[in-house]
This record gives sequence, structure tokens and C-alpha cells, in this order.
Amino acid sequence: MWAAHVAGPDETTHNEGDRDVVQPVSRSARRGLHRRRVPKPGGRAIAASVAVGAFLSAAATSPNTGSQDSVALSAASIDRPPAGVLPPSPVVASPPQVLQLPDLDVGRLAQRMTEQLAEGGVRAAERAARDAEARRPLSVVPVSGTLTSGSGPRWGTTHYGLDIANTIGTPIVSVTDGEVIESGPAQGFGLWVRIRQDDGTIGVYGHIDQALVTAGQRVKAGELIATVGNRGQSTGPHLHYEVWQPDGAKSDPTAWLSARGVDIT
Ligand SMILES: [Zn+2]
Repeated sequence: MWAAHVAGPDETTHNEGDRDVVQPVSRSARRGLHRRRVPKPGGRAIAASVAVGAFLSAAATSPNTGSQDSVALSAASIDRPPAGVLPPSPVVASPPQVLQLPDLDVGRLAQRMTEQLAEGGVRAAERAARDAEARRPLSVVPVSGTLTSGSGPRWGTTHYGLDIANTIGTPIVSVTDGEVIESGPAQGFGLWVRIRQDDGTIGVYGHIDQALVTAGQRVKAGELIATVGNRGQSTGPHLHYEVWQPDGAKSDPTAWLSARGVDIT
């Protein structure tokens, strides 16, 4: 306890009291005491200082003894220090409680959160793309306009296509997914595009004004491939659309389209 208690100048000189508690000493008394200072190692004041030191030491190491009494005592055990001298540190009744935090790497956590958000965004985009693909129609109307002639006997021969009239330049789209097998001039059709469709049949788009795809190109249902024209044996701007079987036999395009959910009236 001797080592634990660092006595201040006031306490070491307070050796004439007859009580066991340390009391403040006035400045005049201190001056007088300094002049007739007589060290007495075995004096009561030293014993009192040891007792107070023991008490304060116990208070500092035991959280349960933290009380107003110990604070009051510690405050009374020191005096006003001379000007320019820092007072002793106040006695803390209980040691400060340090919150123990796990060793977190905040930067790494933030990076991981960012990565997870990005991954979530990619997955959402992929899911949306799959949903859109699943909802995409397999077959669509090739052009807007007026049905002016269906397939069947006409003018003493057989008309194998659908005629859908509209102004020159009206967009024409592929009826199904497929591959362009020909794009260019054709006898009677003026200019045409032929596409191998998703079921192996061949879609024929005739009398077109412009071909916007080339042979070998993959297209999707609804993708722009040409514009309405009036080329070849045609009496006015329209699309002539036919459906050929793989062996070249010509199908009724109206029935073929209707079977795929596309009705042109
Ligand atoms: Zn026609």
C-alpha cells in the first residue's frame, strides 16, 4: 500500500492531527507546517494516509464499492493545489467499462454488400429477360393493312398468298423466328425475302419495296425485314405472303397462321 499511495505535499505534512481522517489544511497552516516540518515515519498521520490509500485502492479495484462516500472522501483528501500545479486525477470508483467489439473489417463488409447487390441486379435482369422471352409471341402478323385477297382460286388460277395492302414503306416483320435464306429480286414478285421459319416452313414476302435483311441472317418474330412495295406483277402497294412446306408444296397461309393463333381478317 505504500507504493500505491502517492502522498501529495499536503498530506505528508499533515502530521499533527489527532483524528484518523485526512482533512483539508489551510494555506496558513501549510506554510507554518513547512517551516517546522519534522518527518515522523511512525506518526498517526502517516498511518491515516496508509489507511486512506488502502481504502481508495480497494475502491478503485472493486466496482461494488463505488459510492458517494468514497468520492467525498477522495475529494476531501486533497487540497487546492498551488497555482500552475495540476491537481491529482480524481479517483474513479469503478474502472471504465470498455465495450468489446468484434474485429470487424468495415471496408470488406461494404465491398461484400456491394457485390451482393450487383449479383442480385444481374439475377433480376436475367430473370426479367427469361420472362420476356417466355411471353414473346411465337407468331405475329407480318404487316398492318387491309386484307385484299386470301389464298385460293383467283382469275382462273390459284393465288397462294395473302395480300395485305398498305402504303409503300410500311414496315414488314418476320412472322416467326427464323433464318433468311434469300433476299433479292425474284420473277413475278419483283423483290422478295424468304425466311426458313421456326417449323421448317418457308415464309415468302413478295412485292416488297426494300429488303432490310440478308441471306444467312437470324431474325426473330416481329423483327423488321422489309417494307411494303409495288414491284413485280402487282396492281398496287401490298405485301404478298406465302407459306411453303420444306418440299416446296404451298400451304394455305390463312389456315397456317390461324393454327398459330394469328388471324388476319
Ligand atoms: Zn398476292
